[in-house]
Amino acid sequence: MAAEPLIYELSKPGRTGTTVPEIDVPETEIPAELVRDTLGLPEVSEIDVIRHYTRLSQKNHAIDINFYPLGSCTMKYNPKINELVARMPGFAHIHPLQEPAEVQGALEVMYELQEMLGEISGFDAVTLQPAAGAHGELTGVLIARAYHEANGDFGRKTVIVPDSAHGTNPATAAMAGFNVVELKSDARGNADVDQLRELVGPDTAALMITNPSTLGLWDENIEEIVEIVHEAGGLVYNDGANFNAILGIVRPGDLGIDIMHFNLHKTFSTPHGGGGPGSGPVGVTGKLAEYLPQPVIVKAEDEAGNEIFTFDDPEHSIGKVHGFNGNFGMHVRAYTYIRMHGAEGLRQVSEDAVLAANYMMHNLKDLYDLPYDRTCMHEFVLSANRQRAQGARALDIAKRILDFGFHPPTVYFPLVVPEALMIEPTETESKETLDQFIAAMRQIAEEAASDPEILTTAPHNTEYKRLDEVGANRNLNLRWTSDVEPLPLEEIATAAD
Ligand SMILES: *Cc1c(COP(=O)(O)O)cnc(C)c1O
Repeated sequence: MAAEPLIYELSKPGRTGTTVPEIDVPETEIPAELVRDTLGLPEVSEIDVIRHYTRLSQKNHAIDINFYPLGSCTMKYNPKINELVARMPGFAHIHPLQEPAEVQGALEVMYELQEMLGEISGFDAVTLQPAAGAHGELTGVLIARAYHEANGDFGRKTVIVPDSAHGTNPATAAMAGFNVVELKSDARGNADVDQLRELVGPDTAALMITNPSTLGLWDENIEEIVEIVHEAGGLVYNDGANFNAILGIVRPGDLGIDIMHFNLHKTFSTPHGGGGPGSGPVGVTGKLAEYLPQPVIVKAEDEAGNEIFTFDDPEHSIGKVHGFNGNFGMHVRAYTYIRMHGAEGLRQVSEDAVLAANYMMHNLKDLYDLPYDRTCMHEFVLSANRQRAQGARALDIAKRILDFGFHPPTVYFPLVVPEALMIEPTETESKETLDQFIAAMRQIAEEAASDPEILTTAPHNTEYKRLDEVGANRNLNLRWTSDVEPLPLEEIATAAD
């Protein structure tokens, strides 16, 4: 199959897709240093561009095309009203260097988003600056470090991380200069409380826990865990990537958690991955508010006694973690989402997400191994161990799922489950869609038992067949230049057809 041409290869000298309006200002010379004819920009018509990118978009999976049960990623539908609001000129056309007096509406949105996230999570103060969950983690861990240092507690050099954690947690702690110690999961999938008691001590800076966990389970001992860490003088960081399971049901701040990040691009329906920049606000308890990145948005009064919104620098701020105020366009979308749902609606979101996951888990657990057979939260983790023994691995199941028009689940994560298949349906799917996915997974289990080669040679129906992943790693070529021939995709693909 021929590879799609690059937009540069569609170029024909003199072809254009733009009309420049007639000049209505005095003509001047463009400074020579700004004029470059070496760029080789493509010369294409509007229809070339539209068709090129529309074709490309059809080769990728997207939440607007079909079901996307990628566990831990909360790939819920992104409501189009979010986009409508974010494109309103008062939000889309402002500039971060404008005076606060000129952008009161934008500041009010950010202030209210801080307040609403605090209310939903039980935290006293929130920063909107971090650009992703992992960035929120770094911000949170730097706040923990600043807190201990302010207390003269320089010996707290260790961060404890459960073995089911997302890889970003230990990476973040190490980036912030901490030693990382791993905490085992117990037989029920909770963090092992007895081992935690042995691990904590005067060197404990924090525990970074993900609750609900990446096994899709609520940690049944979370309050005891928080108590153990606090008694040892440490702080508790909750990775809030799985917040979609507990909106309006539990507030982590009420459990004694000290710091948590939100993933607006997961829980609060802002675009995910290539769809736009992320946003990872961080909430903290009152005693940590003075360390938040600067600035935060506050409500104040002007000289005439009118309510205004303005910037404030927390007293012992860790500094800036992002230019200006973070990804404002995402704040507008998340704000819209929260206001559209209201308190009742957000609770419904979580109840439906949990219901959908349990429904699917119960309809698949006879054909796939279920290592932790408990009521799950918004996602669940199966193991393809049985299928592996038959000759098809989790990876093969993921590839075969593509043939049914679905995005595959997350595979091989969390690491504590061999041949893991981590499935997160989210609340936005109909029962019909869930049933179609269940039917596909059941058919795949039967194929693994009767003819595993259907799986090991999948996908069969997609634009591109199975890629040679080793080759793609070794011969990675992400750069196009006019003199270097890109590696033809056919050379990488070991087409199964
Ligand atoms: C997604 C995720 C992260 C990282 O969030 P990003 O926004 O992708 O940086 C961290 N922890 C868990 C459990 C996650 O699912």
